[in-house]
Amino acid sequence: MKVLVLNCGSSSLKYQLFDMTSEEVLAKGLVDRIGIEGSTIKHTKTGQASVSSTTDIPNHKVAIRLVTEHLLDANHGALSSLNELSAVGHRVVHGGEKFAKSVVIDQEVLDVIEDCVPLAPLHNPANLMGIRAVLDVLPDVPQVAVFDTAFHQSMPPKAFTYGLPYHYYEESRLRRYGFHGTSHFYVANRTAEILGRPIDELKIVTCHMGNGSSIAAVDGGKSVDTSLGFSTVPGILMGTRAGDLDPVMVLHLMEQEGISPKAMSHILHKESGVLGISGISSDLRDIEEAASTGNERATLALEMLCYGVRKYIGAYAAAMGGIDAIVFTAGIGENSILVRQMVGEGLDFLGASLDISRNNIRGKEAIISTDNSRVKILVVPTNEELVIARDTRTLVNG
Ligand code: ADP
Repeated sequence: MKVLVLNCGSSSLKYQLFDMTSEEVLAKGLVDRIGIEGSTIKHTKTGQASVSSTTDIPNHKVAIRLVTEHLLDANHGALSSLNELSAVGHRVVHGGEKFAKSVVIDQEVLDVIEDCVPLAPLHNPANLMGIRAVLDVLPDVPQVAVFDTAFHQSMPPKAFTYGLPYHYYEESRLRRYGFHGTSHFYVANRTAEILGRPIDELKIVTCHMGNGSSIAAVDGGKSVDTSLGFSTVPGILMGTRAGDLDPVMVLHLMEQEGISPKAMSHILHKESGVLGISGISSDLRDIEEAASTGNERATLALEMLCYGVRKYIGAYAAAMGGIDAIVFTAGIGENSILVRQMVGEGLDFLGASLDISRNNIRGKEAIISTDNSRVKILVVPTNEELVIARDTRTLVNG
């Protein structure tokens, strides 16, 4: 069974073709600058060199057609006919309160994704464009939606409700939703496998740290709290997003400086976080380098980031009434030895002891706590595409 996994942005489309018997990736690629001058496609068949080309790609439908041409190509393709393609699985950012699980896409599901556009105005429209493009190009292939928010739908009301007048929740759906759910789900389950223990016995704090970051409390395999909320701004310091703030301070700033809601949104999403504090870069590699040569604001950004993660680990251990494992994933979590060390130092009181030499790894699965550490600390590279492919297989096989 072959499954194509798609992650559609407004001007980009990432894809991976899986053989779901072996769960191997047969080919993958990126279509970039869709609808913009100089559109490109980069395609890689597993085990071969990548092929790239620049061509006119005005919309997602043309992009999907181009992807299918590459997948069928005699030299660098991975399908002999489109009939071999059993299903397409999509990453969809927001499923609101309607979807706690992945679903086969039909008209009703499309309507709900559309209905969630106000909750994710940048992402859901792009996801819908991708789904509709596949409907046009591959009308007979079943499609599945896997939502970033779904895993966090198990949060109890005390964790997801904000302290505003309750009718704002009832009427305007203002609540914590959380994101990166597919990643938190994957690394929590992989942690249970690595530790050889059933997930329903484990209390895990999962730290997804990339350009966007979130921490989740996963109790017995279910998300019970997470640091992103209604939007993707709160929680720990991110590349360009602010993390937790006092909302009244934002109102104060807007009033004092005459900043419009749109301009404020730009500040919160694009000018804040590690970039805003350091004034150097949103990329943690640049920050680590600057901090190592004594740059004070880079050091402050690094300290704020790690301090924030530690606070969430402590809070979520308290929220779950215990903790068995802490897991690091995504670009920073998988690769930054320094960040893991700064977060891990001083967690001994919680029963979590980082092993400095075991921590000296990048981008691979490892237990990085000491043998005596009651709480295990792990690095688990995330694999959201595999979760999407697995859910797609399960749902399409009925
Ligand atoms: P996204 O949220 O866009 O998927 P990623 O998960 O790819 O982001 O993470 C990007 C972040 O990972 C960047 O801040 C980058 O600096 C950081 N990163 C990647 N490699 C390293 C490394 N070797 N050391 C420190 N940080 C790294």
